[in-house]
Amino acid sequence: MANSIWESYPPKATDDQLEYLAQKVKDWTIFNGLTVRPNPSFIKDETNPNHVLATNAPVTLYPSPFPRKCFEQAQCLQKVYNELYAAIACAEEWLSEIMKELIEVDDFLANLWKIHLQVKKEGYVQDLTLGMFRSDYMLHFSDDNAAPSLKQVEFNTISSSFGGLAVRVAQMHTELASFPQPGQSLAYPTHDLFGTTSAPTLPPPNHAVQTLASALSTAYTAYGPSKSSPTLPTCILFLVQDTERNLFDQMALSSHLHQTNPEIPTFRLPVSKILSHTSIPSTTDNPSRPLIYTNPANPTLRFEVSLVYFRALYAPTEYNTPTSWAARHHLERSAAIKCPSVLLHLSGSKKVQQVLTDTTSPILERFLPHASKDDLERLRSSFAPQYSMSDGPDSEGVKIALDPAKAESHVLKPQREGGGNNIYRGNIPTFLRGISERDYKQYILMELIQPPKAARNVALRSDGQVVAGDVISELGIFGSCLWRSGSGNKGREGMEVLENEEGGYLMRTKARDSDEGGVAAGFSSLDSLILY
Ligand code: ADP
Ligand code: MG
Ligand code: MG
Repeated sequence: MANSIWESYPPKATDDQLEYLAQKVKDWTIFNGLTVRPNPSFIKDETNPNHVLATNAPVTLYPSPFPRKCFEQAQCLQKVYNELYAAIACAEEWLSEIMKELIEVDDFLANLWKIHLQVKKEGYVQDLTLGMFRSDYMLHFSDDNAAPSLKQVEFNTISSSFGGLAVRVAQMHTELASFPQPGQSLAYPTHDLFGTTSAPTLPPPNHAVQTLASALSTAYTAYGPSKSSPTLPTCILFLVQDTERNLFDQMALSSHLHQTNPEIPTFRLPVSKILSHTSIPSTTDNPSRPLIYTNPANPTLRFEVSLVYFRALYAPTEYNTPTSWAARHHLERSAAIKCPSVLLHLSGSKKVQQVLTDTTSPILERFLPHASKDDLERLRSSFAPQYSMSDGPDSEGVKIALDPAKAESHVLKPQREGGGNNIYRGNIPTFLRGISERDYKQYILMELIQPPKAARNVALRSDGQVVAGDVISELGIFGSCLWRSGSGNKGREGMEVLENEEGGYLMRTKARDSDEGGVAAGFSSLDSLILY
């Protein structure tokens, strides 16, 4: 039964129907800002010298079917996950044990940890942290006849993106399914999953933009008035990559925030401008270390930064100038609330996610002392098996990873974000044999989740190509959490959760033969879903 839904989906379309649908999508995306700046491999800089062009984000033409039970389970889990990662970010001693072995072999994590230690030595001046999270899942079938279950791929604690565009994809699929009449769509031929005229099946409403914008405004308010001068206005900074192509996704949040809270000034700060456009007054003048922002368009207007929202600085390649690390340190030591702090960034590392799956220790109970038994059970059931690679040649993880037959059902993950970093299946043993055994501990090993085999969809890529084929979908649920860490990041004790929200989803769909899944990394298309 489970796989049969996909066997007849998407509905068979004639060439005319498909052409009509693709054209609708091409026009709708541009009209509604479901867009990205083009990749230079598609539109060369010579033909776009003023960088004025945009194109559709890669999108699926049809929403993907998804079991309602699994969708609701993912929604249910979000607040529990939010609190879990907030608690981890407060458990500095626990994190330091995990980081100890990683920083020996991973310079990126070592530099981040060093920043934490430097700021800790000087003394943190901000004990509020904002998390804007996305927990990613796939459907898992233990065998062809099994019912689907929900398994977490990863939990993102930094730069969790695509909430802005995901909302638009759901709107687009909804319009396509209801035009010209609900249940009598020209774009989508009759199909059981689209329901009847009286009760059409449409993608569930997607509240990602409201959830994320509301998290920004809550943190802004929690910061309170300026610490430097009672007359200085406060602001939010979106910290962005200098060459960001996914800016319309970010603008969906800042624009919504501006409409709902016009009193909150919001600016985009490219990474290369951190040190020139922001400053911290001398601590003898003001020990509270406020972060002052000046926009070069009007240097007489100054703002105190209440929140830095990171949509950058999650990957080592972004720290490519002599002052990059100084810039991250500068932000971390300031009084601005960080989304995320360095500790929260590190809490999202793949190693932490692997350690959490260890069922032999009461780790979840420790971080979630108030969670119900059901919540903990649901949490555990969302874990796919993961293994440490740091316990020597006789450990289970290393043995599986070096055995070609066993490695075939696994993925090896380094402590990285943003897609394109993992090593899959048969490549794992070969890869490991090419590196020193000491470096194995940079990685964790994870069992591959087995998504439905018969899933198919059609995508419009950003270069206008329409591609149909077998697909794998990944569901992300957005959430946010604002907390006070208590004195000295000592752990769960003393931590105070001020806000904990779940809201909105992201569906990404990729060709089945592509192991990786990032949209920005060029593997996936944005999608929405219809529940069955
Ligand atoms: P990143 O932080 O780089 O996005 P992920 O853990 O999400 O790292 O891995 C990238 C992609 O690899 C995912 O989007 C997914 O497509 C694939 N992937 C990761 N882990 C698994 C897994 N256990 N089973 C199947 N696919 C996986
Ligand atoms: Mg990630
Ligand atoms: Mg991912």
